[in-house]
Formats: sequence, C-alpha cells, structure tokens
Amino acid sequence: MNNKDTIHMSINEFKENGYKVIDWIADYYENIESYPVLSTIKPGELRKSLPKNPPKDGENFNNILTDMDDKIIPGVTHWQSPNFFAYFPCNATGPAILGDLLSSGLGIQGMLWASSPACTELESHVLDWLVDMLHLPEKFKSDSFGGGVIQDTASSATLCALIAAREKISNGKINESGFDNSIRVYTSMEAHSSIEKAVKIAGIGSKNIRLIEVDQDFAMNPIKLREAINKDIKNRKIPAFVCATIGTTSSSAIDPLNEIGEICNEFGIWLHVDAAMAGSASICPEYRFIHDGIDYADSYCFNPHKFLLTNFDCSCLYVSDREALIKSLTINPEYLKTEVSQSDAVFDYRDWQVPLGRRFRALKLWSVIRYYGINGIQSHIRGHIKSAKFLSDLITEDNRFEVMAPTVLNLVCFRYRESNQFNKLLLNELNNSGELYLVHTKLNNKYTIRFSIGQTNTTKDHVLNAWKFILKKTEELERTMVK
Ligand code: PLP
Repeated sequence: MNNKDTIHMSINEFKENGYKVIDWIADYYENIESYPVLSTIKPGELRKSLPKNPPKDGENFNNILTDMDDKIIPGVTHWQSPNFFAYFPCNATGPAILGDLLSSGLGIQGMLWASSPACTELESHVLDWLVDMLHLPEKFKSDSFGGGVIQDTASSATLCALIAAREKISNGKINESGFDNSIRVYTSMEAHSSIEKAVKIAGIGSKNIRLIEVDQDFAMNPIKLREAINKDIKNRKIPAFVCATIGTTSSSAIDPLNEIGEICNEFGIWLHVDAAMAGSASICPEYRFIHDGIDYADSYCFNPHKFLLTNFDCSCLYVSDREALIKSLTINPEYLKTEVSQSDAVFDYRDWQVPLGRRFRALKLWSVIRYYGINGIQSHIRGHIKSAKFLSDLITEDNRFEVMAPTVLNLVCFRYRESNQFNKLLLNELNNSGELYLVHTKLNNKYTIRFSIGQTNTTKDHVLNAWKFILKKTEELERTMVK
C-alpha cells in the first residue's frame, strides 16, 4: 500500500516505474523468441489465476510487473515474434511505441481542432506526407477538396466511406429520413468480411451486398461487376458503392482498379479502395503498380499498423470529397460549438469518424516516419517482399507442394498437394510446436496455408528456418500417414 498523503503516483515514483516498464518491454523483445508463438493456455485459465475481487487498497506497481511475467505473458500470442506468420501482421517498433507513450503521456482528446490543435494539425500534416510517400492522388490532400484522417481500423474506415457514399447518392436525404432499402453495394467474393460488416452496421442489410466473382488470380472480375450493376439497375435498385481490394486477406490479390474505376465513373458509383495490408508497399516505386487506377477512387484506406512499422491501431482513410464525409457524420450540439469551427478554418475530426473522442495517434506515425525516413521504410518493405519471393521459390522447387496464388507482395499461399486433411494436420502440428504461427484459408475450395511475412524483426533467416521446420513436420507426418 502507498504510504503517502496522495493516492496518486508521485513524479519520482512514476519515473522509477516508468524506467522499469521500458526495461520490461526491452527484455520482452530480447527474449521474445523463447516463448511459444501461439499462447498455449486453455480457455478460462488466466481468469482462474486472477483474484475474484479487485483490491480494496492500492498495491505497489511492482506487483503488476510480476503478474505480467507470471500471469499475462503465458496468455499472450506473440504478434511481435519474428516467427509470427499468421493473419496479417500488426507491427510494433521502438519509435512507434515511444510515440504512443508520448500520446498517452499527453492524455489529450482531439475531437475538435480547439480541443488540442496539435492533434488535428499533426494528423493532417502527416497524412499529407503519406499521400506523397505512397504516390496517392493529390485530391486526397488536405489543401484540396479531400483529406485524410486516422481511424482505428480499416473496418471503421470502410464504414465511414460507405456512410458518406450513401449520403452523397441521396443528396443528404438519408441523414434526415432514413432510406428505402434499394441501395446496392459491390465487392469481390475475396473481399474482407469488414465490408459486409459495414453494410450491416450502416443498415443497408447484407442481402444488398453483391459479391462479385473473381478471376483465376482471385481478383475481382470487372465484367461480372458490370453485369451485376446492370441487373440491379434493371430492377430499379441504386448501385451506390463499390469496394475494390488491393491485397486481399486470403491471397493478396489485386483488384483491377482501372477497369473497376471506369465502371464506377460511368454509373456514378462511389469507389472505395481497401488496401489495408498492401497499400504501404507503394512507398517503393517498384510496387506502385498495385495502385494503377487509384485516381478513380473516391476513398482509400491502408493500415500503417500492418506494414508501416506503426503500432496498432492506425488506419489511414482518405477521401476526395471531404464534404460528403463530414455531412454524413456531423453533429453539432451547443457544447461542441467553437468559434474557430464555425469559421471553416480548421478540421474537426470528430466529423470524420464514428466516435466523438479521439487519441493523438499521429504522434506514433510521425515518430516512425521521422525515425526511419522514406529510405528506411522502403528497405524494410523490400526485405519482406524479397523474403516472400524467396520462400515462394523454395516451395515451387518442392513437387510435394503447390503455391496457390501469385506471390505479389509479402504473402505466400501454399499447400501440400495431398488432401485438405493432411494440410490441416500439418498446420496443427506446426502451431502446436510453438516454433511459429501460421493460419489457413481456402482457395479454390482447397485448404491452403498462408505464410504472411510482415513482423518488424522477421529476416530471411527466420523465413528459411520456418520453411525447414515445415519440411521436417511434413516428413514426420508423411511417415505417420504411411504407417
Ligand atoms: N481489409 C483487408 C484487406 C484486411 O486484410 C483486413 C484485416 O486483415 C481488414 C480489411 C480489416 O482490418 P482492420 O482490423 O483494420 O479492421
């Protein structure tokens, strides 16, 4: 118990514990490869180890660090392990952690420009930098009619874009009077589930989403998109929103933006581009082809928390017409009115997102960009994409395996040519070993293992060792299957 006249942590105590926390995090990173990548605890195990009731009197902060080691760490899946190849990554780095700590330290809430001007202005500025860094259209910059905003996740970014599109198509009427259930949304069969979720949340209804067929590389087939739109128009429906994906979750497929964009242009449909994982690769000139046709986009999002070295959460949403977004989300109660807001001289980011309040997320992104510079980030991304190509070639050389989708960037999709069951068993064996963590998907209805390379400290050696380990486990399994 703190034996002092204030209940709060003194500045000296804060410093002492703060240094310990930084040391704890540094030790964690130093030892991270000694932990099983996937947590091995059973459901409910952590809760059983925790006291049933909260402490009546305050405790020493040291107790928390002790419990971090004894109770929390066993229940952690180590997303920051260089042997984490599951899902898409959520990368953390020193500068991002420290930038986030500065944000926590300031503890501001940036809902309005006036509620902390630096929060808004740094965000607009860094998002403008990123337009140049990724070679995105100038219309996404804050000095045009558009602009960028940091959302928590790509799911929120898509939801906001969808709501803006819905408003635009109804000339703002939906905000006042609801809508008549005739709106249609299009995305590919391989698009992320967050698109359907946004459609549900927006009240459009999942029956009004059209999942467009894909080609042999799992990219949206624009001919099928056109057919679906024409059919809906014939049935007096309103095609309102197309979401194209640059880097699908299952296989990193790249939808053809030029063809899709032309269709959207012709029919006056809002085009949103979800580049959650892959978008960051466009910082390297040689990967900018992924954005061919991006000029057609009305909105675009990518996640620095996936591939741009910035801690979760950080998803950048850009729109070409900020009025559409703002009108769809604005609220203006008396207690939030400020003179500067009424003057249109500033952005109030509360009107660009679902929640009112917002953290100072730009600090971590700013720290990352300044610490690494464009060259540093490019070399990081190039390293991962090269490792993926290296792995893809190794897999291709072994006849027992097949690569299931083009290795465009940092995701390799493969399977042992045997049954789905074999691949399932192999994946279980690999993950139960604790040596690495991978997840699966289905491509052409075949159970496929996804090897996603994106964790900050993953090197080509980690990838090679993981492949050797996969071969070892495959051979063990081959032997038991023969018996
Ligand atoms: N879009 C794509 C292509 C994704 O791969 C993902 C997640 O992996 C998402 C959207 C959803 O991301 P978030 O967790 O930021 O909502």
